[in-house]
Amino acid sequence: MQEQRYDADVAIVGYGPTGLITALTLAKHGISSIVFERHKDIYPRARAVTVNDWTMRIFQNLGVDEPVLKCIDPQRALRWMRYDGTEIMRIELPPSTLGVTPRQFNIYQPTMEATLRECAASRPEIDVRYGMELAGLAQDDDGVTVSARDLATDTTTDVRVRYAIGCDGGSSATRSMLDVKLLGDTLDVQWIVIDCRVKRWWPDRNLLTFWSDKERPVVDIALSAGNHRWELPLKPGETEADFQTNEQVWPLLKALGVTEDDVEIHQHAFYRHHTRMADTWRVGRVFLAGDAAHLMPPWAGAGMQTGMRDAYDIGWKLAGVLKGELPAQFLDSYEAERRPNAAFFTQLAVELGRVIKQELSEEEQAALNAPPPDPANPPEPPMIAPPVLASGWLRGPLSDTSIVGRMAPQPTMGDTRGVMARLDTLLGHRFVLLGDDVDPATLLTAEQKAGWDALGARYIAVRPQDRHTQGPDELVDLEGVLGPWLRKYQARAVALRPDRFVAAADVSGLAVPA
Ligand SMILES: Cc1cc2nc3c(=O)[nH]c(=O)nc-3n(C[C@H](O)[C@H](O)[C@H](O)COP(=O)(O)OP(=O)(O)OC[C@H]3O[C@@H](n4cnc5c(N)ncnc54)[C@H](O)[C@@H]3O)c2cc1C
Repeated sequence: MQEQRYDADVAIVGYGPTGLITALTLAKHGISSIVFERHKDIYPRARAVTVNDWTMRIFQNLGVDEPVLKCIDPQRALRWMRYDGTEIMRIELPPSTLGVTPRQFNIYQPTMEATLRECAASRPEIDVRYGMELAGLAQDDDGVTVSARDLATDTTTDVRVRYAIGCDGGSSATRSMLDVKLLGDTLDVQWIVIDCRVKRWWPDRNLLTFWSDKERPVVDIALSAGNHRWELPLKPGETEADFQTNEQVWPLLKALGVTEDDVEIHQHAFYRHHTRMADTWRVGRVFLAGDAAHLMPPWAGAGMQTGMRDAYDIGWKLAGVLKGELPAQFLDSYEAERRPNAAFFTQLAVELGRVIKQELSEEEQAALNAPPPDPANPPEPPMIAPPVLASGWLRGPLSDTSIVGRMAPQPTMGDTRGVMARLDTLLGHRFVLLGDDVDPATLLTAEQKAGWDALGARYIAVRPQDRHTQGPDELVDLEGVLGPWLRKYQARAVALRPDRFVAAADVSGLAVPA
């Protein structure tokens, strides 16, 4: 049989936030990629405005959190206000349980993308080919041939890879070439996004404020690196043509009490909101991720982050399959897990949009203002709550009281040699079983253990901090977080996936999920 020759393991189309995280995740696992990106320059418009602790944990695991932290700012709180000064809703940001504080940060997307590109530039596994546009895709049982056109020379190059991922944004050519439909709606209302440079600080500038109003709801948010953003809808009768120059845009800001003493306008753009999803995220060996797979309104601050989470998910799964550690069927869990998560954030964004646009019924508004059933223990709003998977490579049941599908908290732990670090740093990137003051391997049948061994799992006992450790495979729960978290869900042991979601627990069966 003739040996297959590949130019790289994976081809990535598009080097926006999703393509970047895909390439970085594959590189972290030693998987090579060729990236085709149409534009050399980063898209200059500051689109996404926030990242949260889940996304920062991904950055941490990719080794890029420290440079990113230098170009983003902590977010203080979120509030929904009426113009008369009434506060409709407020979300304070308690410390994160995921090992990254605070829970949310304000970003300036072009700066953050530039930082991520710098980090990726030092990775020999990533070969970025700028000025190249996707020209064709052909796949067979063994791989994918990706054709890209050099926009400067109008010549076409073919590369042969095992898998390809379309990270080429909302108008994805990958999606079109796969003949995949983008189902859903685009709203009629056009929004103007005004990005400004701050000239002087004003009170509560760092409170993310949604000015909630039927006619002119406004997003008012501090971005990092001295930038500030206002987003507002055009009223019936207003068009783009009415707001071409800064002079035409200024009255919109002045109506909000913002003056030339506060900011200078840097740029403005117009856009419409979409609630759309590709009807499938995979055709054979080609996957879709990020805006190529889903588009959502901005109200939950989750569009870019959902793409980055897709990227991290397909990245570690593809790496496992390419290294022969995971069966190829494992890749089916990508869409099974990521689609419901993207749908959840899309729906959340739609609901938050209704608050901002003051479209709630009286009953809905009353429910929003009602005190929580247990005021001492209020539920966390879904926008900031720790992530939970609703389906996928998990051994259920999945419910409010089940630990399965939840992301493990990330406290600082101590290892047996006295090293203190955040949990993920000490766990590395493999599957890990954690036992609450017990070696989790002792809770498994021989068959269950063989299953986890085949995935290269580690077995670690989590010890309370008032105890000597006895062996190398123990971690000390210095902050007293991990043990109580397991006990809260009546679990003695859990199996964590490389992305630190709980795949299985002894309470519902510790065998490797199907
Ligand atoms: C006003 C606004 C506010 C937003 N606010 C938020 C927010 O607060 N939080 C949040 O998480 N998200 C937010 N988003 C969404 C966020 O910006 C996008 O979800 C995110 O940029 C998508 O990343 P991506 O990499 O999937 O796609 P893109 O950023 O669109 O990147 C796609 C890349 O592919 C390249 N490309 C395209 N076609 C080809 C081709 N044929 N060949 C080669 N290369 C190609 C493009 O040049 C581009 O570099 C907002 C968006 C807007 C418009």
